[in-house]
Amino acid sequence: MPAGFPDFRLGTVLATSFTGTLSERRGNAVERIPTPQRLVDWLAVNGLAVDSCTSAQLDLARELRESIHAVVTAAATQDALPPSAVQVINDRSAQGRAAAVLTPEGARQWRLSSASRVEDALGVIAADAISIIAGERDGRLALCASATCRAVFFDTSQSRTRKWCDMNTCGNRQKKARFHANQRRSPGSAD
Ligand SMILES: [Zn+2]
Repeated sequence: MPAGFPDFRLGTVLATSFTGTLSERRGNAVERIPTPQRLVDWLAVNGLAVDSCTSAQLDLARELRESIHAVVTAAATQDALPPSAVQVINDRSAQGRAAAVLTPEGARQWRLSSASRVEDALGVIAADAISIIAGERDGRLALCASATCRAVFFDTSQSRTRKWCDMNTCGNRQKKARFHANQRRSPGSAD
């Protein structure tokens, strides 16, 4: 990881992982793809290697990210889907060229068009968002219980009762805060 850039928090679902590249949305927001190169890095980690990225393509990516966040948040809270954000997702999905291919081991991979454009990778992410919003996959869209985080995640736990976003950083933070509060309350504590 290049020094000075926030690390990536990777979940298991592509579209919600992507919205997580802006974290702590209601707190001290952290932009995890601050430069075109960091978007290239994020895409490579997620099996969507592209040749290059311009700042205009980074803008497209962020516009898609915010649109997915808006639509998925609406879906999680059973609100009407914002039409302009739906339009952005649909445009990105329609303009990407990528094919699903099967590896000899039986795993699915994405093969981008021969140009390996950012737009092709965004198309895959947009299609992933569409499949979870449309309810085609087994799981439940939910908002992280942290008031400052507001991350959306796709809950595939058996009970569908997960409260915290991917990687459990928010849940752990909450637990730690509660632990320290308890320590302060207990008399004679060394803390
Ligand atoms: Zn969270």
